Amino acid sequence: MPESIDNQRRGFLSRVAKPVQQLKAEAEVHQRTMPRPPRAVAEPLFEHLCDNCGECVFACPNSVIEKQEANVKINLDYNACSFCDACAQVCPTGALHMTTEQHIDLIPRFAEACNNHFGLDCVECQSACGKGAISIEDGELPELGADKCNGCGECRRACYIGAVSMELVRVATV
Ligand code: SF4
Ligand code: SF4
Ligand code: SF4
Repeated sequence: MPESIDNQRRGFLSRVAKPVQQLKAEAEVHQRTMPRPPRAVAEPLFEHLCDNCGECVFACPNSVIEKQEANVKINLDYNACSFCDACAQVCPTGALHMTTEQHIDLIPRFAEACNNHFGLDCVECQSACGKGAISIEDGELPELGADKCNGCGECRRACYIGAVSMELVRVATV
């Protein structure tokens, strides 16, 4: 086995060997502390495994992953995630892993400034949503079907007046 792969494997094993049962138990009740890239493992395990190496940051073609003090987060303020899986494929520690769900723990919020809310017909965010998660009635704020939303941020990108913001959903991750 090549030295680089062997080192990655050693790093992974040393990270998970110690408290894996404890981490699994915590993961069942833990919540995201900040938005992570898609295919992030449960939050306690993610915080344990991600060593802030930056491989995913460099791999992301949309530049939506940022280094933080201890580990990485996803930021959809300036672009959307295309779910290309480049980040999970390069992650050497398993903090992003291809066996976990392709989902981001963010959902859109629609501000009162929305054009449609003011009676100016607009369906830009609805049209941009590949999941059919947004419905719009005349004169109303867009409504989100949260069960369909994958947190991609395409609706935020499509709204040319900035009436969509992405907010962390603090749900339990398992
Ligand atoms: S799935 Fe692709 S676009 Fe999304 S954060 Fe990962 S590398 Fe970036
Ligand atoms: S974040 Fe993506 S999936 Fe969710 S409503 Fe917006 S465009 Fe649709
Ligand atoms: S794109 Fe923006 S202005 Fe248009 S309906 Fe959606 S939130 Fe409202």
